[in-house]
Amino acid sequence: MKSAVFYDKHDIRYEEHPIPEIGVGEVLLKMEICGLCGTDIHKVLGETVPSSSVLGHEVSGTIVKVGHGIEDYKEGDRVYVAHHVPCFTCHYCQRKMYTLCKQFKETNLDPGGFSEYIRVPALHVKHTMGKLPNDVTFEQGALVEPVACCLHGFESIRIRPGDSVLILGAGQIGCIQIQIVRHLLAGQIIVSDINPYRLEQSLQFGADYTVNSQHENMVEKVMQLTGGNGVDHVIISAGINSLLPQAMECVRRGGTILVFAPFKNENISIPAERFFNDEIKVIGSYSSNPYNYEIALQMIQQGVIATEKMVTHRFPLSQLLEAIQCAHNPNEHVLKVLITP
Ligand SMILES: [Zn+2]
Ligand SMILES: [Zn+2]
Repeated sequence: MKSAVFYDKHDIRYEEHPIPEIGVGEVLLKMEICGLCGTDIHKVLGETVPSSSVLGHEVSGTIVKVGHGIEDYKEGDRVYVAHHVPCFTCHYCQRKMYTLCKQFKETNLDPGGFSEYIRVPALHVKHTMGKLPNDVTFEQGALVEPVACCLHGFESIRIRPGDSVLILGAGQIGCIQIQIVRHLLAGQIIVSDINPYRLEQSLQFGADYTVNSQHENMVEKVMQLTGGNGVDHVIISAGINSLLPQAMECVRRGGTILVFAPFKNENISIPAERFFNDEIKVIGSYSSNPYNYEIALQMIQQGVIATEKMVTHRFPLSQLLEAIQCAHNPNEHVLKVLITP
């Protein structure tokens, strides 16, 4: 089978590898679609993964072989599957903080979604794989994981009907968040980015106002739109550290800032007095947990997430590097990029 293997920043090789053997409770999946996640781009361009890794975790596919002991699935089933599984018993899992479980990050698909075939380990079959209903396409199935990640983030902040939300970053994740926030009956949704195409798309997905932070004063505009209060919630969906101090200026007293995108590993300073006096909450959100997938699938099926409008590019597996370069190009009209075998 073919896999797209990461070696170096500009070196992803389309290589032949043996199809993985499956064991008890496992299935072999033929990858149909694997979404390109912002974290894949971050890992490749930031070279934060070991050489010879196969990335990709937003997977939908067809089961081509089932191991002994599998009763709930059969050959030909169309499924989505996510890559990390918590242990459900540790200190964190007992407190429902599944993404902080040690086992969570240690578990993965074999070799990864950017491959023609994938061995789905027994734990994943049990906890992170699910069947796609007939009216949900493979392309939609590949969006279950990113939608689930957004839902996990929203579990940490409480958006009440009418709350105002500022989303910083209108990429693939920002656009999903706009649609979920709209669904949660938010009041004003303000979206900021430097890419005019993305800002225009944000309005299509349900944003009320956009700010091009390259040309407009974001803090001023947010204050003007919120009667000088600031927004109830800020969601940071672009991995740019300087967005945190900006978010601190845009959030109202007692408001929340959700850090959704991976920040660079460096210190960020924020006005500490305001943080304390105004009781600002800054909350990180990483990945998703097994309970988010079913709801994500439902939202996709019900059309809460307009997946067809989000997918702007499709690349074959042999062109993964081109796909990453395209997704990273600020001049490209790009939101969601999908990879097909
Ligand atoms: Zn992802
Ligand atoms: Zn655990």
